[in-house]
Order: sequence, then structure tokens, then C-alpha cells
Amino acid sequence: MSTELAIEPFDESEDELRAILLDADLPALLPALAQLTGDFSLLDEELRPPLRPMTAAVEPQGGMTPAAQEKARELALAALIGFRDSGYRAGEEPNPEQLTLLAEFITGVTPGEYRPLLSHELGLPTDMGLPLWNKNDIAPDRDFRVIVIGAGQSGLVASHRMAQAGVEFIVLEKNADIGGTWYENTYPGCRLDTSNFAYSYSFAQKTDWKEQFSSRGPIFNYFSDVADKFGLRKYIRFETEVISAVFDETRDMWVVTSRNLIDGTEHVDEANAVITAVGQLNRPNIPDIAGIDTFEGPAFHTARWRHDVDLTGKRVAVVGTGASAFQVIPSIVDEVSDMTVFQRTPPWMQPTPTYHSPISPGLRWLFDHVPYYNRWFRFYQFWISVEGRRPVMVVDPEWKHEVSISPMNEEFRQYLLGHLEKTYADRPDLLEKVTPHYTPGAKRMMRDNGVYPAALKRDHVHLETTAITEITPTGIRTADGVLHEVDVIVFATGFKASEFLAPMTFTGRGGIDIHEQWDGEARAYMGIHVPNFPNLFIILGPNTNLVINGSILLFSELATNYILECFKYLLEDDMSTVEIRQDVHDEFNAKVDVASRGMAWGASTVNSWYKNASGRVSQVWPYQLVDYWDLT
Ligand code: NAP
Repeated sequence: MSTELAIEPFDESEDELRAILLDADLPALLPALAQLTGDFSLLDEELRPPLRPMTAAVEPQGGMTPAAQEKARELALAALIGFRDSGYRAGEEPNPEQLTLLAEFITGVTPGEYRPLLSHELGLPTDMGLPLWNKNDIAPDRDFRVIVIGAGQSGLVASHRMAQAGVEFIVLEKNADIGGTWYENTYPGCRLDTSNFAYSYSFAQKTDWKEQFSSRGPIFNYFSDVADKFGLRKYIRFETEVISAVFDETRDMWVVTSRNLIDGTEHVDEANAVITAVGQLNRPNIPDIAGIDTFEGPAFHTARWRHDVDLTGKRVAVVGTGASAFQVIPSIVDEVSDMTVFQRTPPWMQPTPTYHSPISPGLRWLFDHVPYYNRWFRFYQFWISVEGRRPVMVVDPEWKHEVSISPMNEEFRQYLLGHLEKTYADRPDLLEKVTPHYTPGAKRMMRDNGVYPAALKRDHVHLETTAITEITPTGIRTADGVLHEVDVIVFATGFKASEFLAPMTFTGRGGIDIHEQWDGEARAYMGIHVPNFPNLFIILGPNTNLVINGSILLFSELATNYILECFKYLLEDDMSTVEIRQDVHDEFNAKVDVASRGMAWGASTVNSWYKNASGRVSQVWPYQLVDYWDLT
């Protein structure tokens, strides 16, 4: 991973710099240069990005007028030349007032309640998640040991922070490497649909991304590099699957039993606290379709891609049209001889023409040569996604419409419908099938750069919307009696998201089993604490995933910061356990349920992985990001 603070000398001419600046993202460049040079006159009021409510696509250059863009480029050019000709003399580190000015410029609002969260995301002036305490200082003689379950992105954050705080811990990971979902999902076309600048840790920001929406390889390598850079692998026991965790009330200790997946042996470890970092989307959902086991060809889930199965010339069925299918279908369409896509509910698509584009050479140059620029770019991405689309997904109780939930949501729906009509103008038969009849924001939206619709339009691709009734040895039968004969079935059918912590068992106070306590309705306080389970901390637990606003890595970081604070209290005050009171937990969840009903995904009756079997939204966060910051 390259370091963003190193200064790379450059000797580009004025003309070359002008050309580079054509690729710049200006709203982020001006604060970066002001910070670098100490010249705050760059933050000209006329150049402030207007940040209009985002009912449609994100406007290029934050909606700056062409005149403002031209002026901004001239100012940036002068600043770059000055920086070069002064021998790369940087200004002082910005003080808090200057940082506020910078943040105000880019966000268009006085940061107020957002200020600490914004500093956290910028990583300026310091890494705000760094524990400002060490176990050796506050409780040198206390035995205190933690077990982390999972070495995906959440487990890595927890490990990094505990290593920094001098807390003893081990990580138990079922896979042979770190990465979690990015280790397991290797299907063709797998990539981020959140900007990788925002989908990276505040404490490990990276300048040299090649794409804005990385494919699976670079994002896996990023996590791998983080594990190496912070020396985290030595704490991880790979290929070790946790079976059960039992809280021993007589000693206030967790007893964790795991199985070595290589030799099958069982192992018992004890710890004062357990952190689960297993994510929500790690257990494939294979639908319960009659005859599924009778199919004679290969049949596999996207998260268990069979790279040994050559699809060349094969008749392939893809079941599902969610985010995974949306990426798989265009990636295999050229190989197969025939493809039938089984769609139950069409997804909304938001136009993102640059979805597969590499980062332009000028922008790459600026990341490499303007220290802090990548941080401000990341921050701007974060900011527009914080404010982003959330308001469009909030229910307006006065708005009466059978599909949309507010005037803004209706405007957005019309925009998305217009995009669909334009895209499928030459295929009215497909347009009818792919047009959603539910609220935008009720399910995950897809990023469309044209490759998915182009795949559906191919002569050898058939979009089937009749319900599946059974699977036979040779294919898939639909409710109209037709048997679709295929050689291979790909289940792009998602994950068992609402079955938190399964298939592990957790036994808390009084021998209570967590899944029996939940009875299909997983709930937690802040996603982290469950009553009757002292010192069990869940990262990305119930109601902490995100639909539209922001990156899930932020939630992992914030939950970890909070958990580390809990450890500090336990150690400082020589306490043994922390647990949530039932009444506080219940009150929190009652509020979450009310808030969920006020959002597109809670108000709509359409099925989605955000809801559990009873229809309660148990997976996603209904509030703003800053609310999670405040809580944690
Ligand atoms: P998903 O969004 O849950 O989609 C599953 C698909 O399978 C849906 O179209 C669903 O239809 C269909 N399905 C499920 N059971 C079925 C059945 N019995 N018969 C017919 N169709 C059935 O799963 P996913 O696509 O794997 O994505 C899950 C989440 O993972 C995403 O929302 C996202 O958060 C994450 N993800 C992210 C990326 C990325 O780009 N970063 C990529 C992939 C996944 P219904 O819609 O009718 O339920």
C-alpha cells in the first residue's frame, strides 16, 4: 500500500499540468491544495460545490458551473506550480478552525454535529480510532483475553485496534485466508458497487486504486495488505470453525469450542470476551425448490463458484436477479451457448456509466502527487453518500401514492423509469419484464453501465419471469409447465442474512440459547449487545447494515471503537462484564422499528434480504450515519 503523505517530486510543464487538471475532481482538490499549501484563499466562496439534493445521478464536479470549474482549475494550476517551484514546501498542519473551514467548503454546511465524524473519516489530524490507552498501563496484572470470530473486514479492524491497545486476543477463522466475503465470492464479474475510496478503512487510506469500483481481486488484496501491514496474521487461526460458545457464569468466562477443518479435531479456548465479526452475508441461501437434489449437472451458488466447471457452450440457468446475478450474467454471457435468467422481482438500476472505468490518468497523477488529495476525495465520496440518497428514501406521511413514498422518491422513480425506457426502447418485451413496480430504495439498487441490459438483449439469453415450480434431472420447470432444459444451474439467490450467528450456538446466562431467545427475530442494542449475553460483542449485528447511505466499513470501525471503550472501562474499573439491560435494549429496538417503517425498505411490502421471515426489518440501519457515530 502506498503512503499518501510521501511527496513525489514532479517536473510536469504548465501545459501538462493543465491537461492533468482536466481529470481532477475539483470539490476535493481545492481543500487538499489549501491544506497542503496553507493558502486558504483557494477556498473561494464562488467555487463552493452547490450540493443539491440528489434525486438523480451524482452531478459531475458536485454541480459546479463551467465557469467555476475553469476558475478552480486556474487556481489549482497556480497552487501546483507554486508547490513545485518552492521545492515542495508544504503548509502547517491545519488547526481545528482551519479544518472546520475546509470541511465547510466541501460540504456546504457548518459541520456541527458531523465535525468529529468527518475528522474520523479524513483521518486528520490523527487516526481517531486509535485507542488512547494501553492494557499494560491501566491493568498490567489482569488476565484479559478476547476471542474474535472471523477475519473478514470487521475482524481485521477489531484485531488492529486490540493489538494497538495491547489487549491479548486470538482470531478464529473458518477460511484459509483473511477477507471473509471477499475471500468467498470469486464469481465472474464480482466487484464493489460502493466506491472503494469510501469502502476502505479511515486508518488505511490508499492512493493507488486503479478503479473507483474495484473488482474482487484488488479489494481482496487491499484487505490482505492491511493484514500484513499491521501484522495481524499472527493472531489468526485459519481453517478453524467455531461450533459453540458458552458463558460460564461461575467464572465470567466464555468457553469457545472450535473445529480444525483440516484434521477435524476439536479445540476449546477460553476468553473474557467474544467479538463476533462474521458479517451478515456469509451463508448462501439455496432455495428450497422441489427436486433440487435430482438435477444431474453442476448446480452451485455464486458464493461457491465452481471454477472447475467450464461453461463454454453450455446451457446455463441463472436463478435470481440481485446484485450478484447482475454482475455474473454479463460476465459469462459470451461463454455460454444459451442462458435462461429466472427473475422473481426486477431490480431498479441507477445509471453509472463509469462503473467499470479505470481511474483517469490525470486523477491518478493527482493522487500520487498531491498529498492528502485521496483523503479529501474519499471524504467527498463519503459526504455525498452520507447526505446522498437517504432523504429520497424517507417516507412522507402526507404523500399518497401506490408506489412512491414522497415527492422526492417519486421524482427519483420517474428518473429511473426514464432510464429503463431509454435502455430498453428497442425491446418493449423486455422493458415490461424488467420494470419494477415497487418503491425505489426498498431493495438494493444496481449500478448500470449498460452491460447487464446488453446481456439480456442477446439472442441466446431468455428472461423468464414465470415462477419456478420444480427442478428435474435435466432442468427447471416453471408454473406454466414448461421444462427449461439446462446443463448448469447457478443460484444467485443471496444469503441467509437474518439468521445471525448461525450455525454457531451461543449460550448465555441461565443456559439461554441465543437463537431460542431470538426465535427468528434477531435484535441487539446498537447491533452489538444482546441481553443475557455478557461480554458478547457483535460487529455488524442486527440493524447495522446499510442500504444507500455510506460504507459498511465505517460501521465496523465505529462498533470496534465502542467495544474497545467497553474493554477500557472493564480494565480500568476492574469489572468483569458489561451487558445490556433488557429495558434499554427493548426501547432501542422499538424505536428502530418505528424508524424502519419510515424508510422505503420498511414501508414497502416487497421482499428483500433486509427483512426476516416475519417481515421485520432486522438487518439494516434506519437512521443517519452520524446517529451511529453518536451512539457508539
Ligand atoms: P439478493 O440481493 O438477495 O438476490 C437474490 C436473488 O435471488 C433475488 O433476485 C431473489 O428474488 C432471487 N431468489 C431468491 N430465492 C429465490 C427463489 N426461490 N426463486 C427464484 N428467485 C429467488 O442476493 P445477492 O445478489 O447475492 O446480493 C446480496 C447482497 O450482497 C447485495 O444486496 C449486496 O449488499 C451484497 N452484494 C454486493 C455486491 C457488490 O457489488 N459489492 C455484489 C453482490 C452482492 P427476489 O428479489 O424476488 O427475492
